[in-house]
Amino acid sequence: MNTPSHAILNLAILIDPQQPTATLAIVCGAVLPDVPMFVMYFWAKVIRRQSDYQIWSETYFESFWQNFTHAFHSIPLALISIFIAHYFGWWQVEIIGISAFLHALGDLPVHNEDAHRHFFPFSNYRFISPISYWNPKYHGRVVSLMEKLLVLIATFYIFPLLQSWVGKGSLIAVNLVYFSGYLYVKLFCRCQQINKQKELY
Ligand SMILES: [Zn+2]
Repeated sequence: MNTPSHAILNLAILIDPQQPTATLAIVCGAVLPDVPMFVMYFWAKVIRRQSDYQIWSETYFESFWQNFTHAFHSIPLALISIFIAHYFGWWQVEIIGISAFLHALGDLPVHNEDAHRHFFPFSNYRFISPISYWNPKYHGRVVSLMEKLLVLIATFYIFPLLQSWVGKGSLIAVNLVYFSGYLYVKLFCRCQQINKQKELY
């Protein structure tokens, strides 16, 4: 799933209005597993000056970046961090671990060619899902729309529970970007179809 979706869906699951200080930890844990991907993109784009195509078809699949990304999406490593944090009473680290664990579970059913090794480094097993959150070859358009609708529903639930206006503003911004992008693609596709029909007649 897209990183902002993880943050909003994890908030909907874990938010506790009695514990507003936990909100930041939930968001950090939801974003954390994708941090290696951001580092890879920044390094490849800004330092190596690679094209987006090269980044997502080659660099992303290099073993160093795959290991880095998969370690951060590892279910057992998240569980180990939760247990250690719980044992030492580090409650914020524990919430970050739980949120990262939910991120890993959320990605599991919607990754096909880019599936993570869910039990890294203990096993190389990857669940190759028949659906993808982005790839049109594997129902990416429908799954992407479902993801955005789910985020919208979660937004209605958590909006009144959030106390900070930065948080509320971010929620609105993510939904605006999601649905304006979706409408743009829809309109663009329509225009292309209309042009094609015009060419036919
Ligand atoms: Zn992820």
